[in-house]
Amino acid sequence: MRYYNSFGSYIKRRFGTSVHKVNIDAGFTCPNRDGSVGLAGCIYCNNDSFRPSSCKPSLSVREQVRNGSSYLRKRYGAEKFIAYFQPYTNTYAPAEELERLYREALDEPSVIGLAIGTRPDCIDEEKIALLESLASRYFILVEYGIQSVYDSTLQFINRGHDYRRFLDALDMTKGRGIEIGAHLIVGFPTETREETLSMSDVISGLPVRFLKIHQLQVVKDTPLADMFAESPFHVFAYDEYLDFVVDFIERLSPDIVLQRLFATAPDAILVAPNWGRTRHEMLRDIELRFLQRDTWQGRKHAPLVQVSD
Ligand code: SF4
Repeated sequence: MRYYNSFGSYIKRRFGTSVHKVNIDAGFTCPNRDGSVGLAGCIYCNNDSFRPSSCKPSLSVREQVRNGSSYLRKRYGAEKFIAYFQPYTNTYAPAEELERLYREALDEPSVIGLAIGTRPDCIDEEKIALLESLASRYFILVEYGIQSVYDSTLQFINRGHDYRRFLDALDMTKGRGIEIGAHLIVGFPTETREETLSMSDVISGLPVRFLKIHQLQVVKDTPLADMFAESPFHVFAYDEYLDFVVDFIERLSPDIVLQRLFATAPDAILVAPNWGRTRHEMLRDIELRFLQRDTWQGRKHAPLVQVSD
């Protein structure tokens, strides 16, 4: 039995089969790194922590889709794929360039759609119109990195946009046939446990259908790692996180599909917290915690608590 609405089961229900993600690095950069918004980037950001070695921007999108899908076919017998434009900001280019890159992936017959990770300040009407037209034929999921609904945290992490910007992006995206995802990081030292937890209520009241949450990880070669070395702050212990994530999900709308529940930065760059658990063990332990607490997604779902922006 599953205690939460997982992406895997959602996809199986919707498409009648497993659909695997193929990671694509289309060579985008990020406005919070190239100087148009900022140069330093978000204080926790080390893109090596989320760029799998299998995807190389030196290969074309088509080659990456073919390489990734052929690997997944052999390993898991996969037949259908979502091209996941993952590192950096994957709508950070003119609309015509985006269309060329997205279509290169969608032209592969086994690709049924796209997942596109981006910032809420890198979307505009022209790009949304492009995504809307693709969404009439394909599964198109835009994942907005928001990280927190609190402006004090967004300032602390040097995000380069505020919460209002996220709400504006949602307004532009909703009702256009485009699936909307959000990405939150939990455990910033700027928030109390209850403040972080109440983001579950806030997100539940927004037009967000897919959610990734994960614990804050301090990784090497980031301003956050320097801060942590100078003045260590609290990071989630493993058992504490299991309870937190269950608390969060039981307050979450049962309609929201969970795409990620924890992060797994490579050991080589991870500073803290170092839980020494595999992905499989973490998933198992989260399920076990739901079972032990006899709870499930949405059990404590309450009406929207609006956070002022
Ligand atoms: S986390 Fe994303 S938005 Fe922030 S600096 Fe890194 S790539 Fe840019």
